[in-house]
Amino acid sequence: MGDAVHFELLDNKSGAIHKIEKRDNYMSRKAPRIKGAGYRGERLEQIIASNLDNVCIVNSVAEPVFNNKVVDRLLVSAESSNMEPIIVINKIDLGDDEYINHSINIYKSIGYNVFKTSAVTAAGLSELKNSLKGKKNIFIGKSGVGKSSLLNRIYAHLNLQTGEISRQTDRGTHTTVTSVMVNVEENTYVIDTPGIREIDPYGIKKEDLGYYFIEFKEYIRACRFNTCTHQHEPGCAVINAVEKNNISMERYESYLRLLKTIEEGIIF
Ligand code: GDP
Ligand code: ZN
Repeated sequence: MGDAVHFELLDNKSGAIHKIEKRDNYMSRKAPRIKGAGYRGERLEQIIASNLDNVCIVNSVAEPVFNNKVVDRLLVSAESSNMEPIIVINKIDLGDDEYINHSINIYKSIGYNVFKTSAVTAAGLSELKNSLKGKKNIFIGKSGVGKSSLLNRIYAHLNLQTGEISRQTDRGTHTTVTSVMVNVEENTYVIDTPGIREIDPYGIKKEDLGYYFIEFKEYIRACRFNTCTHQHEPGCAVINAVEKNNISMERYESYLRLLKTIEEGIIF
């Protein structure tokens, strides 16, 4: 999705793709394990979408509950894919709390755009819409945070299915499985990813992880060892910055957690 191709029309109905242009960037994940391949089965890279500008990382204040670790993981996905992250905190009509606002302040202080929104009251939607204009945007985030609802509310003509609890069966329905790219306005595209439960960054090396925590970058250069993983190495400028409160403890803890998952080969 999103690739530029050289295309030849053969007749009225069909054509042939000759060449796919080089991708400027792309978002991928590890494909789900193939049934029967077992836990150790190889997980291949699956490309979700390419040539994108913005990644909207959608979260909700509740249902599902806000978790800064999830935001940090998706930020690594966006940064490693060379796309511009936009952080959305949806369902603000359900009320926020100190932990959420504290997290928002951290993200703002390191330079990210954060929007508090509600697909119910329409709070924050015109601001969000402005930053999507003229761009190719992908919406990612946990199931149920309101990605489809937000898009439907922002673009009146859209009619994406939302995961409302079915009254008949009283079960949550997962109606759509494929991602769709829609041309919502002139030069503006959005991709909803309803069927994608997890977007794990693919192929990130231990020694590169720190660079995807954007506020770490300026310190990394000053670490004594150029192989520093910022855990317990002597002369680590990142740890020093954490101790001086120049890097937040929350972000550093997220970093350590992700590093561990890479080391254990769990998600990356
Ligand atoms: P998605 O899986 O991220 O696409 O989430 P959906 O758009 O399907 O929304 C999941 C549920 O959250 C639905 O029942 C929506 O009606 C509800 N929802 C979405 N946005 C909001 C919001 O801003 N406030 C509240 N209170 N509920 C919302
Ligand atoms: Zn270091």
